Amino acid sequence: MNIQTTLLTGLRKVSEQHTTETLGDRSRYLGASDVGYCPRKVILEKINPSEHDLKTLIRFQRGHMAEDIVANAFIAAGYTNFERQVEVDISSNDVPIMVHIDFVFTSQTHKIKSILEIKSTGRIPDGPYSSWESQLYIQMGALAQKYPDYSIKGAVLTLDLNEGDVAFFNGYEPQKGIFTGLLERAGTIWSDYQAQLHGENPELETEVSPLCGFCDHIMTCPQFEAEEVPQLAGIVNELQELQTQEKVLKDRIKPYKKKLLTIVERKGPIKTQNRILRKANRCRKYFDMDRLENFLTENGATIEEYQENRSFSFLEIKKAKVKAA
Ligand code: SF4
Repeated sequence: MNIQTTLLTGLRKVSEQHTTETLGDRSRYLGASDVGYCPRKVILEKINPSEHDLKTLIRFQRGHMAEDIVANAFIAAGYTNFERQVEVDISSNDVPIMVHIDFVFTSQTHKIKSILEIKSTGRIPDGPYSSWESQLYIQMGALAQKYPDYSIKGAVLTLDLNEGDVAFFNGYEPQKGIFTGLLERAGTIWSDYQAQLHGENPELETEVSPLCGFCDHIMTCPQFEAEEVPQLAGIVNELQELQTQEKVLKDRIKPYKKKLLTIVERKGPIKTQNRILRKANRCRKYFDMDRLENFLTENGATIEEYQENRSFSFLEIKKAKVKAA
């Protein structure tokens, strides 16, 4: 068994065990995060849970590590007033909804319960995703229902474990209207799920988003059957706008760098407001291709014999041809 296979089988077991211990059988209820995601994805995942690949399993572990890092930091800082993985049952009208909250801090003196939801991401987003906020509103609504004598607060703490960056999105409070709307949405998801389980094949609601790339049901998704996916237009526009800005910025940065480099080349290192500017030299190793080619020829070989094609992927955006009417 190679190392990848060992990791894959091992982490699958770890993940299943963790889910069973903390969340139980997720096919029997809706969780707070289920309500914020694309309903079709949530329902199909419950019916046919996909076998996670190594990449996804490592991402899951990263999430658990982020929670442990935060817990250790709070313990070391002397906090004792918090609970982890708090479960709140808000099932109603035959819709089982079980909310799990990463951290709940309680102030008995001020009668406040504060939720802290931990998200581990590859890059800190500019703002919280709407699915995170939906999850938080359900969690806050659930706590408000269970503890009517307490004020409830909510926040999301995002950690980028690669870069060590942290972002704190704070200041959330329960919103009755949003909570009710999310419970209604949960009701629809649950009844469609039940209908699907009983072979009725209802038309499942879909929500196209940048997260579709992580969805295991994209190949059968009706939104991606057609040639045109209009819901992605916004994100593609945003990307193209950012790419234009990137080019403009690069063009603006270049002359600054050149002028400052010319100064330090002529004057030597200089200091300005606690920053030192100097010319840095680095060395890179290059192949002397002529000598290498001569050597290979002398030994009866050619450079082409040692060249190979390696494929790589990138996102290409081209203007579509307008079809004749
Ligand atoms: S591909 Fe996107 S829209 Fe389709 S089911 Fe998956 S998440 Fe939903």
